Amino acid sequence: MSGAPEPRSGLREMAAYVSPQMDVAARLNTNECPHPLPEDFSIELASAITQIPLNRYPDGQMLRLREELAAHTGHPVEGIWTANGSNELLTQLLLAYAGPKRRAVIFEPTYMLHSRLCWLTQTELVQLRLEPPFEIGANHITGALAAEPKVIFVCSPNNPTGNAQPLSAIEELARSTGSAVIVDEAYIEFGGRTAQSLLAEHPNLIVVRTFSKAFALAGARVGYCLASPEVVEDLQRVRLPYHMSALTQAAGIAALHHASEAAAVIASIRSQRDRMMTALQGFPGLHVHPTEANFVLFQTDPAGKPAETIWEELLDRGVLIRDMTSVIPRALRVTAGSEHEVDLFLSALQEVLG
Ligand code: PMP
Repeated sequence: MSGAPEPRSGLREMAAYVSPQMDVAARLNTNECPHPLPEDFSIELASAITQIPLNRYPDGQMLRLREELAAHTGHPVEGIWTANGSNELLTQLLLAYAGPKRRAVIFEPTYMLHSRLCWLTQTELVQLRLEPPFEIGANHITGALAAEPKVIFVCSPNNPTGNAQPLSAIEELARSTGSAVIVDEAYIEFGGRTAQSLLAEHPNLIVVRTFSKAFALAGARVGYCLASPEVVEDLQRVRLPYHMSALTQAAGIAALHHASEAAAVIASIRSQRDRMMTALQGFPGLHVHPTEANFVLFQTDPAGKPAETIWEELLDRGVLIRDMTSVIPRALRVTAGSEHEVDLFLSALQEVLG
């Protein structure tokens, strides 16, 4: 016998998750922050790294990072947990609360990883469809509860649509079920109301955030959740030993020391986003969706050039955005980059549509 081992059923039908990482003039496809943290951050991190005894395992409780996050968020440290990006946190949450013969509800269209992680953890998936303006309403809540899920995902602001969900809908979901209601707030620093204020009343609610967007730290892979202490205890049961390296913890701690600089950049990203919104609305035939995140979703004219062609022609001009047509017809998503990147995008789009 020879050849590769027999994979788990369905594995080979599953495409690997890849987002193109191309060397182009404007990389506006993955909602990263266009500006790195200031040099002071790198100096502080480099110095912190020299103090780390890398022959030893890291702090398995990530205590300093969690304490700094407690100070940053105002949430008690016992209810904070961290991981390698919010993706790992979502995985740990599914390992704790979902899995075989348990259902998760997802409101689509949303961040693709949510359904993908359900597949990975063998969780039964119930996908409920949102229509523009993509807001969770009473009928969606009824549909979600009818599925008797163990986990409900809410993404707010939602990727890829950009809208934030009403806190009343999140509260209703948390109040009406004993299931874990996971609110993915990856983009909360750019707009929308956080569900954090609901945590004290609803121990089944979990707010998940990331350092990858507003904190300009996608390369370090730091995510965290705000939850009840019981949730954090459950996550300790499913995590791999020492899952967060000392280097990653140090990066998160140093970034928190530069939170005010990160916050200053948010204002500039929001203004580029608003500028992009206004400019896109000026193109005849484009339908632009309102956004509270650091990106804009727009749909192309059914009678005009196909979205896929627009995507390709933008790439030919060094502008990489995200083709969303597989989840929303004729839809493209563009990240609010630096002023220069937004200039490049808008002038390339003018050429492509002109
Ligand atoms: N949640 C949402 C809604 C996202 O869009 C993303 C990144 N695209 C993530 C989570 C992943 O963040 P991280 O880099 O922290 O894993």
